[in-house]
This record gives sequence, structure tokens and C-alpha cells, in this order.
Amino acid sequence: MPAPARVRPNRSVLMIASEALPYSKTGGLADVLGALPSALVRLGWQVTLVTPRYRGVAAGRLSERFTLAIGAHAFDVGVYEEAWPDGVRVVLLDVPELFDREALYTIGNVDYPDNPRRFALLSRAALEWAGRRGQRIAVVHAHDWQAGLAPVYLRTSLASHPILGGTPTVFTIHNLAYQGLFEPDWLPRLDLPWDLFSVERMEFWGRISFLKGAINDSTIITTVSRTYAREIQTREFGCGFEGILQRRAGDLVGILNGIDVTSWDPANDPHLPQPFDANDLAGKRAAKVAVLSRYGIEADDETLGRPLIGMISRMVDQKGLDLIAANAAHLPELDASFVILGTGDAGYESMWSRLAQQYPRRVGVKVGFDEGLAHLIEAGADAFMMPSRFEPCGLNQMYSLRYGTVPIVRAVGGLADTVTDWTPRRRSATGIVFEEYAPEALLEALKRAIALYRQPAKWRALQKAGMKLDYSWDRSAREYVKMYDRAIKQAGGMR
Ligand code: ADP
Repeated sequence: MPAPARVRPNRSVLMIASEALPYSKTGGLADVLGALPSALVRLGWQVTLVTPRYRGVAAGRLSERFTLAIGAHAFDVGVYEEAWPDGVRVVLLDVPELFDREALYTIGNVDYPDNPRRFALLSRAALEWAGRRGQRIAVVHAHDWQAGLAPVYLRTSLASHPILGGTPTVFTIHNLAYQGLFEPDWLPRLDLPWDLFSVERMEFWGRISFLKGAINDSTIITTVSRTYAREIQTREFGCGFEGILQRRAGDLVGILNGIDVTSWDPANDPHLPQPFDANDLAGKRAAKVAVLSRYGIEADDETLGRPLIGMISRMVDQKGLDLIAANAAHLPELDASFVILGTGDAGYESMWSRLAQQYPRRVGVKVGFDEGLAHLIEAGADAFMMPSRFEPCGLNQMYSLRYGTVPIVRAVGGLADTVTDWTPRRRSATGIVFEEYAPEALLEALKRAIALYRQPAKWRALQKAGMKLDYSWDRSAREYVKMYDRAIKQAGGMR
């Protein structure tokens, strides 16, 4: 008797996200979508990533056009496709009236008023495209509120779709602070039934929330670190969603983001003047000289002898900018220099600019977004400051660890999961960690770091322990695969 043919399991995932490197980026979400798909391919999954084709994106070739009606609007959706060398398939949705804009989400810090329609289209068009292909997908993986309607449509208008109906969903919360809140009259305009306007579904204090819809309608919910998964079920960190998340606690899992160890590799980084690794840190000093010169700080014995503390960040309260502002008068008194790269609240930008003007040999600031300089700072700084109020995962502290740059962090979210505080006996220590969200606690942590820097053997041990850690995506991707398998099982097995 012939052996029964083995049925190959369907291991295909449709990823939907509003930003992805190398096409677009405002924050860590883009880094994740630039790396996780490839890590999943390495584990044998077929990955299709769907994301908008914003202004300036020239990638992909037009493969088809279809019309998609949302409410009273009919959109002509151009599908541009490209394949990454490793096999990830990317679908870029070209809808110029929605995506050909100056910025991704906001103009002059005000949200585009049609954001609900723009991102409803992202989810709907991604699913529609998948449905038109006639092949079932094993799991849909949607990211943040911008893709939050994907699980909602799958539970409502697409529930009995012959191809898409019943597809399990994994939804990842990258930052609970962004909840996609809109007026309820958007429901009919997005082809969603009015019964979603209830506290059990999408209503959040008189409005609708794309995020809440996704949390309620997804098979599995993940967020980007274990600690953050716990924190968001508490009042302090829950942003009003703690009850909603507690109800789904059994299906809520924290999976730490990885980092892209290819583009963030001190031994092979085109943005550095000289490569380095844990065995030979000479290149790190060359990077320090380069950073100082980029900031117009003369590199001499004094400035090179002082620890250089870097920061690359959105300049907002979340990132602890208020703690830093409260310490502004003390920072120049410390035996350290500071270089900052970031954009954000005007008040914080001018605070740093004032400091830099007053203390040109101790403080350097660049307001703007500069990927190359970010790499150089990670390499050239001795320590890296992340005093976040909350931090779902955080990437910079992991880049810092890999670049031998000692992170100074608050014990919160992903920072707590990735950095181990220095104590005289702890050999696994990789950084300086403080607990309380208070200016004095940050100042104390900075002083501890500076004192340790003066003890080269100990500092070196700290750097080396950090450089040895593995925060690659392969580890995280294995966790996601477990969640995909679980979602498929929970949704009734392989379809
Ligand atoms: P978040 O997503 O909350 O902003 P993360 O630490 O998770 O914070 O990720 C931020 C990412 O954006 C990192 O890759 C960081 O290097 C990068 N980044 C932030 N601000 C800038 C900037 N001004 N220039 C270059 N890169 C930046």
C-alpha cells in the first residue's frame, strides 16, 4: 500500500502594518517589520507584508489594480509588489489620495482627519488582496491600531468570506498609548455595524477605538516584552485599557523584540569610521572622536577622557524628557558630556539647545532624524540614557548593549527585561538600572555610571557582558511561531 501523502501544513502569514523599514519609519514598529518577516522565513514560514506606499517610496512593481469601496468612497488601489532576496513578499498599497502625503500620521502634530479611513483601507485592502488570490492564509498578524481593523473585519463583514472567513489573528501592541480613538459616526463610514459601538466591542468612553476592537476580536494578543504585558494590565500603565486587557489575560503574551543584528553590527557598520568588537574596542574610541566632531565638540584629552552619554529619542514625556529637564541644571556639573539626537516637543528641543549653547564643550544636540548619526552615537558613546516613564520594549538599549555602550535605564517594560543592574557581585550585570520615576533617581544613576566609568576593569566587564547577549530576531521569531500555532489551534485547527 502506498504511504499516505503527507499534507504540508499551511505556514503562511499575512502581516499588516502601517510602517516598515526600508519603506517608512517613525519609530520602533518600522524596525520590527523590517526584520521579523525575514526571521519567520528562516523558520520556514511564507510571509507577505502589506504596508502603504507612502510618498517617496519607489519600490515594487505594479502587479494589479482593484477598486475597493469603503462607505461612500471608491478607492483605486494599486498593488506594488517586491520580493526580498530571502523570499519575503512585500505588497505596497498605492492609494495616492490617502498615502501620498507629507507625513505618515500627522501634520504639524495634528492627526490627519481621515486617518480612520486611511488605515481602515490598509486592513481592508490587505485582506481583500489576500482573498482575491484564492489561497487561504494560516494566520493574519496585525500590528498596532493602524492595522487594528483587520481582526474586526474578519469577525464582521468578512466572517463568512469563502477564503478569509475564520482566519485566526494575532495582534501585536507595540505601544498602548496610541489607541486609534475616533468619533463613533465613523462606524458606518467604514462599513462597520453599529452594534460595535458597545463597551464589549469598540466603544471607549463615547468614542470608538481601533485598538480595543483588535484586542477584543483577535485570537491572540501579543505585546513587545513580558514586563510590559504585565504592566498594561495595571492602572498605572493600562491607559484605561487595563480592564479590557485583564479580560483577555489568558491570550495575552509578551514577546521581546529582537534587533536587526546585520544592520546593527559594530564589526560591520558602514556608518562607523572603524569596525570593532568585544575583543578589540579601539574602533569605539575612533567613533567617539567622530561623534564629538559631528557635534562640534573638540576631541581632546579632556573631552575624550570624560564619559560620553548619548541619547537618541523622541523628545516626549514617555522617554523621560521631563526627568532630564528637571535635572538640566545638574547635568553640566557632572563629569560627563552629553550628545542628543531627536525630535519632539518644542519645549524639550529648546531646553537641549539652550544647554548646548551654554556648555558647548559638554552638551551637543541635533534636532532631526538621522539614521547614520544614530549608529555613530551608539558606537561612540560610552553610556546611553533611557530614563523612560514607560517603555513597551525599546530598541536603543539593545543596540547599546551590542555596541559596548552601557545603558542607563529605568526598570520598566522592556528595559527591565533586557538590562541587568550593576552590583559589585553580579557578574551578569550589563548596565545601570534605577527604579523610581524621579529626577533624583536618574541623577543618582548617572553618578553611579560615571563613577563606574572611572574603574576601567569593571566598566570593561560591563561592556563585555552586554556585547555577549543575543537579542537577535531568531529567538523572538520562534516565540511568534508558537503563537501562530496556538492561534491556529484555537481557531479550530489547520483549515
Ligand atoms: P519608540 O518606538 O518608542 O520611538 P524605540 O527605542 O523602540 O522607541 O525605537 C526607536 C527607534 O527609532 C530606534 O531605532 C531609534 O534609533 C530610532 N530613532 C528615534 N529617534 C531617532 C532620530 N532622531 N534619528 C534617528 N533614529 C531615531
